[in-house]
Amino acid sequence: MTEKERVVDSSNFIRNIIEEDISSNKNDGKVVTRFPPEPNGYLHIGHAKSICLNFGLAQRYNGKCHLRFDDTNPETEKVEYIEAIKEDVKWLGFDWGDNLFYASDYFDKLYELAIDLIKQGKAYVCSLEADQIRETRGTLTEPGIESPYRYRSVEENLELFERMRQGEFPEGSHVLRAKIDMASPNMNMRDPVIYRIKKVSHHRTGDKWCIYPMYDYTHCISDALEGITHSICTLEFEDHRPLYDWVLEQVDLGCHPQQIEFARLNLSYTVMSKRKLLRLVEGGYVSGWDDPRMPTIAGIRRRGYTPEAIRDFCERIGVAKNNSIVDIALLEHCVREDLNQKAPRVMGVLEPLKVVIENYPEGQVEMVEALNNPNDPDSGTRMVPFSREIYIERDDFMEDPPKKFHRMSPGKEVRLRYAYIVECTKVVKDEQTGEILEVHCTYDPETRGGAAPDGRKVRGTIHWVSAADCIDAEVRLYNNLFTKENPDEVEDEEGTFLDNINPESLVVLKGCKLEKSLLEAEIGKAYQFERQGYFCKDKDSTEERTVFNRIVPLKDSWAKIASNK
Ligand code: ATP
Ligand code: MG
Repeated sequence: MTEKERVVDSSNFIRNIIEEDISSNKNDGKVVTRFPPEPNGYLHIGHAKSICLNFGLAQRYNGKCHLRFDDTNPETEKVEYIEAIKEDVKWLGFDWGDNLFYASDYFDKLYELAIDLIKQGKAYVCSLEADQIRETRGTLTEPGIESPYRYRSVEENLELFERMRQGEFPEGSHVLRAKIDMASPNMNMRDPVIYRIKKVSHHRTGDKWCIYPMYDYTHCISDALEGITHSICTLEFEDHRPLYDWVLEQVDLGCHPQQIEFARLNLSYTVMSKRKLLRLVEGGYVSGWDDPRMPTIAGIRRRGYTPEAIRDFCERIGVAKNNSIVDIALLEHCVREDLNQKAPRVMGVLEPLKVVIENYPEGQVEMVEALNNPNDPDSGTRMVPFSREIYIERDDFMEDPPKKFHRMSPGKEVRLRYAYIVECTKVVKDEQTGEILEVHCTYDPETRGGAAPDGRKVRGTIHWVSAADCIDAEVRLYNNLFTKENPDEVEDEEGTFLDNINPESLVVLKGCKLEKSLLEAEIGKAYQFERQGYFCKDKDSTEERTVFNRIVPLKDSWAKIASNK
């Protein structure tokens, strides 16, 4: 193992567990993991951590990773979500091959095993109401109270469970509970419900069932049926592990996966729970699950983030046992690092100010050569039209600048990137408002390409686009979706996280002027607008209308945070 790998390993304790298992030939040295989403919403960046972890481990140890839909709650699940989840996992760069499963595929088997549990005297039909079950569960300091139905005979339980399945009883009238220990210090072991009546159709099994198994009962059995070796989940399931193990010990499927818990990813300035993301969508606070401000994979993809950047991010945050909040600036840093290598450079003016070059011939168009990517010697050059009228960024001009301002101002020379050195000679203003309407310049024809033959110093270089040859575009700038680092902090049942939505999370600029080469830009493909940041064309673009998203600005706040640490 190289030094670098050893360092990486220390940030992922699960690899250490798996390597020990391989060297002791546990599970015949095999590694089978799974990613088990519930299809009740779109995947988010937290899921990406779990996907990278589970698929990554399978790749690393020549194993397999299953994609399994945990579809035991038909009311909240949709086929739309199943399709979106598959697309997102593929886009992240992972392949489940033939290993696509659904917990609902096991409904028959799960039912059969439940009957076995009843026959063993380890499960019973409880006819308390939901409230009563909750009230008799006890507390952390007090044991629970046994249900009056706990000692029903096996025959009665079998008959009632069968009648539950036949649809004879209304929802909530009976449940099947595991018979474990109402005095257990672990609340999950106090006769947990394992089946409940739900008279709803399932997106895969239709109306075949009106009883559905609970997550804790289903998950471990699904894992065992698929021969999972390491069942990796988030920390909140740590207290469920004894139940996971208990169920598998009773049903004995000849396979007992090891549950391992890790800390879920939390990101600053956003929320991650699907329930909350759904509220943002349904409340119209965002334009949909793929709104580029959303932490969903679909949103991030539309925003222009790359799978490489997300995988890099997941690697860097590591896998630990303690919960923490990761700074969203780190995610943006990973995006910049990736795009800096790949994104072609172009010029785009977001807040345009017209510049007229008085001594440049009217009607003349000259093509100047521009580098596509200084970081990539193979990326070559392109020709960009230059003419008498151009646009520059409004804040690259100051009529009365402070000393250190090295951009355009009256009487000072500035370089137009790839073109000429120009000098501002006149400012045209609106007489009423004083607003600057346009700026006039002269250019030095001897400075083509931007270098002065006499070697005179020109400090500033600014970007521009030709007024006659450019695209008019709408550019959408995105900022954090929430103003609070932890928007959940004030959470109560009223859902006040919505009060922390950042009113400036989306800023729309109209009338931006972009280099003409962007006409052919593919949707989602990242470009660096020189001196501005990374941008990509949005799917809202039409023949008549060009829309770009800002992926990230150039300025890297993570570099600053990291250097202060
Ligand atoms: P949410 O809280 O967003 O609704 P969930 O846990 O209910 O998430 P599932 O669809 O059950 O969503 O999650 C699938 C897998 O992804 C699970 O193994 C879960 O542990 C993991 N996962 C979910 N959220 C995160 C997260 N923030 N960080 C890491 N893993 C996560
Ligand atoms: Mg879940």
